[in-house]
Amino acid sequence: MNDHDVVIAGGGPTGLMLAAELALANVDVVIVESRPSQDLDGRKAGGLHARTTELLDQRGVAERFVAAGQRYPFVGFAGTALDISDLPTRHNYMLALWQVEFERIMATWLDELEVPIVRSREVTEFAQHSEGIDVKLSDGSSFAAEYLVGCDGGRSAVRKRAGIEFPGWDATSSFVMAEVEMTDRPPIGMRPEGGGIGPVKPSEPDGPYGLVLLEPHVEYADEPTAGYVSELLEATFGTDFGMHTPTRISRFTDMCRQAASYRSGRVLVAGDAAHVHGPQAGQGLNTGVQDAVNLGWKLAQVIKHNSPDNLLDTYHAERHPVGARVLQNTMAQVALTRIDDRSRALREMTLQLLALDAPRMFVAGMISGLDIRYDLDVIDGDSHPLLGRRMPDLDLEAGDGPTRVFALLCAARPVLLNLDAAGGFDPAPWSDRVTQVDATYTGEWELPLVGAVSAPSAVLIRPDGYVVWVGSLDDPALHTTIEKWFGVAH
Ligand SMILES: Cc1cc2nc3c(=O)[nH]c(=O)nc-3n(C[C@H](O)[C@H](O)[C@H](O)COP(=O)(O)OP(=O)(O)OC[C@H]3O[C@@H](n4cnc5c(N)ncnc54)[C@H](O)[C@@H]3O)c2cc1C
Repeated sequence: MNDHDVVIAGGGPTGLMLAAELALANVDVVIVESRPSQDLDGRKAGGLHARTTELLDQRGVAERFVAAGQRYPFVGFAGTALDISDLPTRHNYMLALWQVEFERIMATWLDELEVPIVRSREVTEFAQHSEGIDVKLSDGSSFAAEYLVGCDGGRSAVRKRAGIEFPGWDATSSFVMAEVEMTDRPPIGMRPEGGGIGPVKPSEPDGPYGLVLLEPHVEYADEPTAGYVSELLEATFGTDFGMHTPTRISRFTDMCRQAASYRSGRVLVAGDAAHVHGPQAGQGLNTGVQDAVNLGWKLAQVIKHNSPDNLLDTYHAERHPVGARVLQNTMAQVALTRIDDRSRALREMTLQLLALDAPRMFVAGMISGLDIRYDLDVIDGDSHPLLGRRMPDLDLEAGDGPTRVFALLCAARPVLLNLDAAGGFDPAPWSDRVTQVDATYTGEWELPLVGAVSAPSAVLIRPDGYVVWVGSLDDPALHTTIEKWFGVAH
C-alpha cells in the first residue's frame, strides 16, 4: 500500500501547479519542500505570460493572480517591448507579479485543495521497482509512491540521481540582482550591456530600487554581498548613489541546459529541473507551470489505470521541444543585447523587423506561449488548424445558459464540445472521464498567429486545454481518439 500516489520534490511554482492539477484529478499527492516557508530570498520571476494566465483561468483561479498584479499590454524581447494587445485572448497582457506573490497565492489554493506540504525536508534518495518507488527524505523518513516528480529546480537532486543528462551551453555573462534604498536618485532605465535600475513598485518612484548589474566575470565562488553590490554600482556608474538597506541579493547567468529526457521510469522532471536558461523575456516560471499542466492529467490517467503508462512519454514528446525553443530564444536575446558593433547592427535590423506586424506576432506568440502546437502524430497539411493548439475561450450558449470554454475546463477533465445538432455519438462509456457539452457559438474563430479558421462542428479538448480531435460526432476517429488519450470505454 502506497503512502501517496505521487511525491513531488520541490514546492516552487512548478511543484505547486502540478500538485493542484493532481489534487483536482483526485490523485493523492504530497509535496516535499526544503524551504521552511513559501518565502523567497530573491524576487526571481516577475510575471505571468498570457498562456499561463489562461491556464489559471481554465482552473477558475486566474482572478486571484490578476487582482494581485499589474497588466502591461506588451512582452519584452531583447530589451524591447512588443505590443500584444491585438492577440486574440482575454489575457492579452503580461501580468507583472513577483514570484513570491505567485507562490503565496498558489499555496493558499493548495490549502483549499488540502494538499499536504512537508516542509524543511529534502528528497535525498529513491529506489524504483516494478510496483512503485520508495522515496527517502533528509530526516530519515520515507514515502512509498507510484511516481516521483522532480520539481526541485535547476540543481535538481532528483534529475541527477535518476541519471538524466543535462546537456547545454555554459554561461557567457553573469548579473547580480538586488533591491536597495538610495540617498541620491539613480538614472532609471535599461543599460546598454543589459540590466539597469528601476523602482521596485511603479507607484513608489523614490525607491526602493531594483538593480540588475552585469558582473565583470562569469564564474564566482562566493555569493554576492551588500559591499559587492556597492562596488558594482561604483564600477558601472562611478557612484553607489548612497546605497543602503539592501535586500534580496541574488545572481543569475545565461547558462542554458535541458534534461535529455523528461522521464526515467517512475521519475519525471519538470520546470527548472528540466530546463534552465537566462531570464530574458521572463519565461522560466511560465514554462515550468505549463510543464505541470501538461503532465498533471496524464499522471492522473495512468495512476487511475485509465491509460497505459506510455501516455507519460507524450509529456517529454510535447514539452521537450517547447523547452528547447525557450533555450534558443533566450540565447538569441543574449546575442542581440551584446554591445560590440556587429551585434548592435544585428539588433538594429532585428528591431526594424519587429516593427512589422508578422515578425512581432511571431515573437510575441512565442514568448506569451500562445503559439504552441503539439505534434499529435495526426497533423498533416489538411488538418484543421485547431488540432494540437490551445482551445480559444469562446462565449457559448449551453443548455444551462451562457458559459465559456475555460469555465467548462475548471474540473480539469476532458471536454467533448459539440456545437452542432445533438446525437451521433454515445459518450456514456466514458462518462466517468469525459464531459460532453452541447452548446452553440455564433462568433468568429480566431487563433493567435493563424488568424480566422473555419468553425468546427465539434472538438475534443484535453484537460490542459489543447484540442486533440476536430470533426462531427459521427466521425469514427472520435472513438479511437478518446481511447488514445483517455482510455478504453468501461
Ligand atoms: C534572478 C532570476 C530572475 C528570474 N526572472 C524570471 C522572470 O522574469 N520570469 C520567469 O518566468 N522566470 C524567471 N526566473 C526563473 C524562475 O524563477 C524559475 O524558472 C522558477 O522559479 C522555476 O520554478 P520551479 O518550481 O521549477 O523551480 P524552483 O523555483 O527553483 O523551485 C524548486 C524548489 O525545490 C526546492 N528543492 C530543491 N531541492 C529539493 C529537494 N531535494 N527536495 C525538496 N525540495 C527541494 C527548493 O527549495 C525550491 O523551492 C528568474 C530566475 C532568477 C534566478
